[in-house]
Amino acid sequence: MRCSVCGREAVIKLRHAGLRLCPEHLVARVEKEVASAIRRFRMFSPEERILVAISGGKDSLALWHILAELGYRVDGLYIDLGIAGYSAPSREASEDFARARGLTLHVVSLAAELGASLDELTRLARGKTCSLCGTVKRYLMNKLAWEGEYQALATGHNLDDEAATLLGNVLRWDEGYLARQYPVLPGEGKLVRKVKPMVFLSEREMAAYCLIRGIEYLYQDCPHAEGARSIALKDVLNRLEDRYPSTKISFLRQFLKVRDRFRPPAPVVLHDCPSCGMPTAAEGPCRFCRLKDTVARHASRVTEDRGAAA
Ligand code: AMP
Ligand code: ZN
Ligand code: ZN
Repeated sequence: MRCSVCGREAVIKLRHAGLRLCPEHLVARVEKEVASAIRRFRMFSPEERILVAISGGKDSLALWHILAELGYRVDGLYIDLGIAGYSAPSREASEDFARARGLTLHVVSLAAELGASLDELTRLARGKTCSLCGTVKRYLMNKLAWEGEYQALATGHNLDDEAATLLGNVLRWDEGYLARQYPVLPGEGKLVRKVKPMVFLSEREMAAYCLIRGIEYLYQDCPHAEGARSIALKDVLNRLEDRYPSTKISFLRQFLKVRDRFRPPAPVVLHDCPSCGMPTAAEGPCRFCRLKDTVARHASRVTEDRGAAA
């Protein structure tokens, strides 16, 4: 198999792009796609400070590597969720990556911010683990980006992630989510701009990129992801992609052309949470502060019970 660009030995075949690429040209393609998404969607400028949300997986570490290579002012943020058997090695992969390259990684722990790890929270609060995890991650990412005076928050969502999210939103015809699914969401007040520079790059390309670039990421998936709806949606799309290459990329690209036809059911008015001051769509304490309250109430009950038993 020959590289479509230079004719040397190719290591990957990208049917959806009609390309076979050698290591050098796969790297060039990935970096070019990221740079062009940043430009096309006006994600950020070279003067702005960017915070990349780092999970320790291939996508976010590759994104951090690429943004730093491209000369952007970029730091990382790792949220230690306290997931048994998963958070410790993913934190280590993120810290090793930052240390080896002299990059700045902020680490926050959910236990310190909320009073409970994700595992504990799942036991105390109503709601599924993955949805609670999404809530606390979004909150902490935004809070840390706002407090650190970063102009944009970048995540490593790739083509497979975006196509699966889109399929999920379409199956529910969720107009609000569809209107908000875009590679860049402008900031507003204390909500920091959110950007996804890798939405046109597939999971396979990113894995190959990391291998070629020597980026050591955590291979393991989150134990909670197993059985999650997002995995089922990805499976369906992978099966379609096998038979009809380009399914994912055209699904996403065509959607982006018609997306402005979708409108959120009602305009979202943001309030400041009376407790933490961060933005929330409903009046009263934000969801994070309500979860924090649940955790604190439980902790005081436990203390009282121990006191009564003594
Ligand atoms: P996921 O929601 O796990 O599919 O991850 C999507 C993106 O969220 C990743 O590419 C990261 O940019 C970010 N992310 C996921 N987990 C964490 C974490 N523990 N700390 C910081 N960012 C994260
Ligand atoms: Zn080549
Ligand atoms: Zn709050």
